[in-house]
Amino acid sequence: MATHKLLLLPGDGIGPEVMAEVVKVADWMGQEGIASFESETGLVGGAAYDAHGQAISGSDMKLAMDCDAVIFGAVGGPKWDAVPYDMRPEAGLLRLRKDLALFANLRPAICYPALADDSSLKRDIVEGLDIMIVRELTGGVYFGEPKEIIDLGNGQKRGIDTQVYDTYEIERIGRVAFELARKRGNKVTSSEKRNVMKSGVLWHEVITALHKREFADVKLDHMLADALGMQLVRWPKQFDVIVTDNLFGDMLSDVASMLTGSLGMLPSASLGEADPITGKRRAMYEPVHGSAPDIAGKGIANPIAMIASFGMALRYSFNLGDAADMVDKAIANVLDSGLRTADIKGASTSFVSTVEMGDAILAALRALKT
Ligand code: NAD
Repeated sequence: MATHKLLLLPGDGIGPEVMAEVVKVADWMGQEGIASFESETGLVGGAAYDAHGQAISGSDMKLAMDCDAVIFGAVGGPKWDAVPYDMRPEAGLLRLRKDLALFANLRPAICYPALADDSSLKRDIVEGLDIMIVRELTGGVYFGEPKEIIDLGNGQKRGIDTQVYDTYEIERIGRVAFELARKRGNKVTSSEKRNVMKSGVLWHEVITALHKREFADVKLDHMLADALGMQLVRWPKQFDVIVTDNLFGDMLSDVASMLTGSLGMLPSASLGEADPITGKRRAMYEPVHGSAPDIAGKGIANPIAMIASFGMALRYSFNLGDAADMVDKAIANVLDSGLRTADIKGASTSFVSTVEMGDAILAALRALKT
């Protein structure tokens, strides 16, 4: 059995608390012979700044470049508010994304039936929801040049950001979306603003050509990004895979996240280019939530987003689809049993700790294995 090399970067705040629950799951999978992992642990964010004066050290970056998957907790917190801009905790996350060239961000929005009443939308609109937002992560308006504020000399200033996409950037993110769709509901909705943006015209053209050339078996729709935002809250179950650029993806994935209840439930994956020989991709898996300084150290954080992120690593980095399905099913079974952490307890007065939720998911995994 292949041994998969993990780099664990727990980070700050609740990061180490939720990461400890992933370690239990990975260890159990090793003991059961489901998968074999070799892991190292590094520092990122404020923890790395305290130790090395930078948001991630060169040696931890090297480990990240050499491993099969980075499992990332969360960074940040008020303790580091006054740290110089280039060394702030988030700089560690941005460096990882940039140096590993993680251009594809995958954010599933799944609404477990047991939590449908926690959504801000009605139960019948969100119950059983399972969509995947694929966001381009390394291009577009967040990175395009020129990017500056210039003084016009007449008492006015001008702020400039540049939205720019080249054909290859659109093709490679489109390919990720179409390939994912083939393993899910076989439908892609591509989104841009071609009615007012040239980059949107090109996006539409390139996705349409790619579809015709390589993915004609997948159903493709196009939807303007503003309309898609509206449809996401009107009837989200019409979507399977949504592919969009960095800016629209940032906003639309946050909208989608609210359909599912709590931030503590949302995993994500960021993938790099596939190696032409091995097919392997650099990859990082992380919960969508931050370091939650308001609850850090209290032992009440929800570990589900972190454990589900590890589940995505099993699926997308290690080709262990059955093990990933087992993790998802264990989470669903625990929620069905009524067990809740504080963030998803709804009107109930009782809730379990981070460790108790992790233990319950482990027990559900054991039950599924036997
Ligand atoms: P946050 O996601 O940390 O917290 C928002 C709210 O959700 C808080 O009330 C928090 O208690 C709750 N919450 C988040 N995760 C939870 C979990 N697993 N279980 C239970 N409740 C949970 O966002 P924020 O408060 O805006 O930011 C806090 C810090 O985290 C900031 O320094 C911010 O920059 C950083 N941040 C980091 C990341 C990251 O590391 N990827 C992402 C977002 C924010």
